Amino acid sequence: MPERKKLIIEVRANEYAMRARNPHVPWSAEEIGQDAAECRAAGASIVHFHARGPAGEPAFGLESYRAPIRAIRARCDMLVYPTLGAFERPLSAQERVAHIVELARQGEAPDIAPMDMGSTNADRFDAASGWFTTEDRTYINSHATLRHFAHALGEAGVKPQLVCWNLPMLRSATAFLRAGLIAQPAWIYLGLSAASLAHHPPTLRGLMALVDFLPDDVRCEWTVALTGANLLPLAATAVALGGHVSIGVGDHDYAELGSPRNAELVRRVVEMARNCGREPATPDEARAMLGMPARNTVHSTKDLA
Ligand code: ZN
Repeated sequence: MPERKKLIIEVRANEYAMRARNPHVPWSAEEIGQDAAECRAAGASIVHFHARGPAGEPAFGLESYRAPIRAIRARCDMLVYPTLGAFERPLSAQERVAHIVELARQGEAPDIAPMDMGSTNADRFDAASGWFTTEDRTYINSHATLRHFAHALGEAGVKPQLVCWNLPMLRSATAFLRAGLIAQPAWIYLGLSAASLAHHPPTLRGLMALVDFLPDDVRCEWTVALTGANLLPLAATAVALGGHVSIGVGDHDYAELGSPRNAELVRRVVEMARNCGREPATPDEARAMLGMPARNTVHSTKDLA
């Protein structure tokens, strides 16, 4: 029997999660770097993070991103995946990707950056009250903005993750791929949510309604993520179907598992995947699977010091 495809485990380290129900959400650059090293040792190959301030508030700008990128690369070879982080502030397309472009210009490009492939209402739904906590939040990603991101990230040598929370976003991602605006194989994120009604619901049918529409005329690897609930049951489905897994305490506190550290979640995914015959991919193996160039030594902070 041929060896089964290696499993890419992407850590969703912190998002904008606070620490009320899980104290292990990494905020500072040092915490993000240490967390990444633990996750690498446990079997993860990509670390996705948001820059955070001292009290956990969102942090923006070049230096806010340079510090955790350096902290990760000083400790391990994980693929580094910061956010564009413009959900909270109205910015132009150029401004939203500026920190990535500038880091690349200075030889410190991250490896991956997100492209959220559509626009949506962004109000949180409060299940307890049965209504939204806000009524007028929107998140706009026009096709012109996304085309700018595709071009800017391509020029910077940064792999886009095509973020899809629903079927129309996956159809836009497919259109970008067919138009030749995104290199193949694509890295496609299928995001489910218990907290956001803009996403597919976190059920087998919610996931399969996306998987069923993955394009078969372009090359892609896909991963599943879930905000606001435990991903592990659906992660097993993704492993069985040849997908990958994006998990972390940024997406859910995992209080039902004792509020673990990110590395503990990675260990659980690795054990489950091995039981299904799939070994975790190393960062170098993940690069090869995603069609990314082999590690560039200029990324080593030792060379920059
Ligand atoms: Zn994020």
